[in-house]
Amino acid sequence: MKEIYLDNNATTKVDEAVFEEMRPYFCELYGNPSSMHFFGGQVQRKVDEARNRVAALLGASPDEIMFTACGTESDNAAIRSALEVFPEKRHVITSRVEHPAVLTQCRNLTQKGYRVSEIGVDGDGRLDMEELKATVDDDTAIVSLMWANNETGVIFPVEEAAAIAKAKGALFHTDAVQAVGKIAIDMAASQIDMLSLSGHKLHAPKGIGVLYLRRGTPFRPFMVGGHQEKNRRAGTENSSGIIALGKACELAGQYMALENNQVRALRDRLQNELMAVIPNARINGGAAERLPNTTSIAYEFVEGEAILLLLSELGVCASSGSACTSGSLEPSHVLRAMGVPFTCAHGSIRFSLSRFTTDEEIDTVIRELPPIIARLRQMSPFGREFLKAQG
Ligand code: PLP
Repeated sequence: MKEIYLDNNATTKVDEAVFEEMRPYFCELYGNPSSMHFFGGQVQRKVDEARNRVAALLGASPDEIMFTACGTESDNAAIRSALEVFPEKRHVITSRVEHPAVLTQCRNLTQKGYRVSEIGVDGDGRLDMEELKATVDDDTAIVSLMWANNETGVIFPVEEAAAIAKAKGALFHTDAVQAVGKIAIDMAASQIDMLSLSGHKLHAPKGIGVLYLRRGTPFRPFMVGGHQEKNRRAGTENSSGIIALGKACELAGQYMALENNQVRALRDRLQNELMAVIPNARINGGAAERLPNTTSIAYEFVEGEAILLLLSELGVCASSGSACTSGSLEPSHVLRAMGVPFTCAHGSIRFSLSRFTTDEEIDTVIRELPPIIARLRQMSPFGREFLKAQG
């Protein structure tokens, strides 16, 4: 069965061109980039080229790019560093809808005596900017807010938020793991101090990430040991991963317009045609500005997991809005923070497209999903009531 992969916010296919770029750096050009000899030097030059490519996608300088192992490491390193830079400050601000890479770390800080404020969102997942303004104070070491939400695709006004944080002397970090490669980013025209990205969300392999560090931003390393990454992140570089990420960033720049036109059009067709034929559904965050590739749709009176399993039998890969990793079928913290009614949140499905998504794949989902929802509603007591009421 050929898969129809609509789970690109979970991870992406490595682009063939990216794979070809990294391939020689395993068995042939395996030198350590820090070595003095020519063999290491040729890897170092390719790592430098990759750093330039990543910087170009972000509108940054190459020296502002620090390679890490993943988005989670970048998020952890940014927040931890801010607390070490400002030992006297005991307040951290984030939002209620962050990825666990930020949220778990922040919640753990409360056990160490920090004050942690989680800014709320409205029914469409938009950040409460008034609450943010009222919450930042002189004691705030760092404000960490995601650029775009992984579940709903809702985009936060991070530049405005950064200005609010900076005015009070706090550092500003953004988890841009879902934003990079999908929307234009220009750090040269930004006030953001630190930004996280992850290779496997933009067609590079897993195990490579970046923490962007604005020049002059004080930073305390998370990983200590050797002198790699200008003493900011010890450990022999994942040179093949770095080289792959460089290529992926170059391609992301080239495909940015396509992402915002073709991918957006496919996403819009998918959600609009599904909304037209399946009653009692809502788009989570539908009224907010969103990533072009993401749509999260809540179906009343059905379980998201049941939809996923039936879709999976047809080869369609999507994701649900439940925190199923925790072993419960609780609606996700994101949907709960948005106040999505319980009956809807349970039946939420996220489709996340990529530049590899085709028209035919979208046609298949538009054809197959409506009978699946009808069948599941028929099986659930609430769903039967609802169908009966509909006549
Ligand atoms: N932040 C966001 C918004 C994400 O979506 C993810 C991954 O799903 C991460 C952080 C973690 O990235 P990584 O898997 O590279 O650790």
